Amino acid sequence: MIQPHRGVGASTPPEPIIFCDFDGTITRADVTDEILIRLADPAWREIERLWTAGTIGSRECLERQLALVKTSAQELNALIDSIPIDPAFARFVRFVQRSRIPFVVVSDGLDCVIRRILAHAGLHSRGRNGIHFYSSSGRLIKGRLAVSFPHAAANCAHGCATCKPQIIRALREDRWPVIYIGDGLSDRHAVAEADFVYARQPLLDFCRSKGIPARPFNNFADIECALARWLGGRVTDEMLEAERSRALAAFAASE
Ligand SMILES: [Mg+2]
Ligand SMILES: [Zn+2]
Repeated sequence: MIQPHRGVGASTPPEPIIFCDFDGTITRADVTDEILIRLADPAWREIERLWTAGTIGSRECLERQLALVKTSAQELNALIDSIPIDPAFARFVRFVQRSRIPFVVVSDGLDCVIRRILAHAGLHSRGRNGIHFYSSSGRLIKGRLAVSFPHAAANCAHGCATCKPQIIRALREDRWPVIYIGDGLSDRHAVAEADFVYARQPLLDFCRSKGIPARPFNNFADIECALARWLGGRVTDEMLEAERSRALAAFAASE
């Protein structure tokens, strides 16, 4: 389950890289769901059921669901602006920048949504898909959303809209640990690539059922605290090993 890694037993200090889901993790609501609830024909719910059951991948799901949306730029922007984000998120981003920890947002959601919300949080005022974050792409043309998937992988077996595991493998290089932050179904393929996971439900239960070390978190301040302690120069290989053992023990106790 837990693979031995160069980070444990080696004398090199940890060089983490963080991958982070967007909807329900950085935001407090799933923006795509909100768009569908408020602006789409109700037939989207049947398509959602197929995705939840694993019958179709997130790419086919989003393609079919977002085709049911009819809206205006004004209406769509007002909806996006009404979505609350984690109050500690902007501070967390300043922390990772200060600490020189690469921080990568990976999302099945739409780039126009992510760009607008990150800009409002004071981040990446002109964020670009494939540089500042990785996501599906959406453009409003005559009241309809034209959707494309620049980060779907040809060799992805799950039908991901954005293939999160593929992006992690491409960007992690030699870094350790790979930390993943997420909450939902769209993260289940990504967590297998991570060394540690910070999770909200239902992802937390999923990780525990698979033996993937995962910690719950309420908001980004919790994660900042844990990382700051961890990177504060008091990190030893023994502590890293203890961290893993605790995560494993917590998993065993949850069964
Ligand atoms: Mg999510
Ligand atoms: Zn995939």
